[in-house]
Amino acid sequence: MSAPVTSYPRKQLERTTSSSSSSSSSTLLVNMTPTTESLSELQKQVFTHISNHESSELRTLLASNKMKIDFVDENGMSPLQHACYKGNKEIVQMLLDQGADVNACQHEHAYTALHFAALSGNAELCHLLMSHGAKLTATNSVGRTPAQMAAFVGNHNCVATINNYIPKADIDYYIKPQGLQTEPMIPPHLADSLHKFIMQVNVHPVRVAMSLQRCTGLLDHLPKVLKVLESMRHREMTRGTDTNEIMAFKYHYLSCIVSELIKCQKRLEARKAEKINEKLADEEKGKTDPVEFFIRLLLKCSRSDGLPEYQEALLREIVREFPFRESMIFRQMVATLAGTDPPSAVSVISAAINGQRGFNDNQVICMTCGEEKATKKCSKCKAVQYCDRECQRLHWFLHKKECARVSPSCITANPKVTDTDKVDIANAVKNEIGNLTIQ
Ligand SMILES: [Zn+2]
Ligand SMILES: [Zn+2]
Repeated sequence: MSAPVTSYPRKQLERTTSSSSSSSSSTLLVNMTPTTESLSELQKQVFTHISNHESSELRTLLASNKMKIDFVDENGMSPLQHACYKGNKEIVQMLLDQGADVNACQHEHAYTALHFAALSGNAELCHLLMSHGAKLTATNSVGRTPAQMAAFVGNHNCVATINNYIPKADIDYYIKPQGLQTEPMIPPHLADSLHKFIMQVNVHPVRVAMSLQRCTGLLDHLPKVLKVLESMRHREMTRGTDTNEIMAFKYHYLSCIVSELIKCQKRLEARKAEKINEKLADEEKGKTDPVEFFIRLLLKCSRSDGLPEYQEALLREIVREFPFRESMIFRQMVATLAGTDPPSAVSVISAAINGQRGFNDNQVICMTCGEEKATKKCSKCKAVQYCDRECQRLHWFLHKKECARVSPSCITANPKVTDTDKVDIANAVKNEIGNLTIQ
C-alpha cells in the first residue's frame, strides 16, 4: 500500500516557493526528513485514520500502542500537521494530549501546525493551537505567517482569531509586582477579564465600551486597565524582530477608548457635583451612567453623510496618535483615511486589526455595535437589526425618530408584533403612505 495522501493543495502552497532562500529551520532539517519507507505500519495507520477523520479508531490505536507522535511523512508533515490541515479539532486535541509538539516543523516548506490550521479555516482550531503555545510569528519558506496564509485563502475568521490572540502569560506579568513595585499593576482577580477584553475580535468602539462593562471588575479599575494597556503597547513595540505591530496598535486603540471613557466618568462626576449643589432631581440613565453616556456620544449622528461625528473624529485621532509611526499598519491607515471619499474610521481600524474582509460578505451588521450576524430585527419597522435587546435599547434614542417614520402609530402601543398582526401592519403602512402623498 502506498503512503497516505498528503492532501494539501500543493500548487497553491508552491506557487511562490521559487525563491531560493528557504528559511534556516527548513534548511537545517532537510536532511532529517525520513522517507515514507521508514515509517512503521503503525505510523502509516495513524496517518490513514487522520486522513479519513477516524477519531475513535485513532483513539483506540493511540491507547493500545505507546508511541512518540512527532514522526513525519515524506513531505516532513507530522500527524498533528495533517490533522490541522484537515481542520479536525477533536483529533488535534487528542494528538496534543499525546504530547505532540505544537511548533515542531520539519515540513519541506516550513509550514507549522498553525499554518495548516489557518488554511483549514477552523478558527477554534487556531485558538486551540495558540493556547498550546503555537508561535504566531513562525514563517514558512516564502516568509508568510499563519495569519497571512489564512488571509491569502480568504479565511477571515482565522485571520481575526490569530491576530487578536495573546498568551495568558502576557497578562499574568501584570498581576505580580515587577522590579521595584510594591504591588502589581492590576489585582490578580482581573486577569481573566482583561485577557478576554483584549482578545475580543469586534473592535467597534461601542462593543469595546460594552465589554468593559461586561468583563467583571474592569469598569471599577479603568485607570489601572489603562496603565496596563499602555505598558503592553510599549512592550510590544520594543520586542525587536518579534514585534507584532497589529497587536501594538490594538493595545493603543483599546487604551485610547479606556482613556476616553475615564474622561466621560470625570465629566459626569463633575456634572453630578454641580447638580447636587443645585439640588436637581436624578436624570435618565443615559445622562448619568458613564458607559451609556459614552455609547450615546459614539452613536450620535447629525451629519448628512450619516457618519457619527464624534466617533469618527475620536477614531481618526486615535489612529493619528499611534506612536509607532514607522509601522506598516500606521502608514496604511493614515493613507486610507487621507484618501478621497475615505471609508469610516471604524471600518479602517477594524480591517487593520482583523484583516480585510471580502466583498461577498453580505452579513447583517448590528446597528449599535457592528457585530456580524445580528439577527434580531426592530419589531416595529423591521428595517434595522441588532444583536440583542441591549443593543436595541442603546440605539433607541437615535432610532426612535427613524422608526416612527415607517411604523404605524396604532401598533407602537403593542411592543410584541406577532405574525398575525402582519395584515394590520400592512394596511396601516398603506394608510400612512397614503397620508404622505396627500400632503
Ligand atoms: Zn450589537
Ligand atoms: Zn424600528
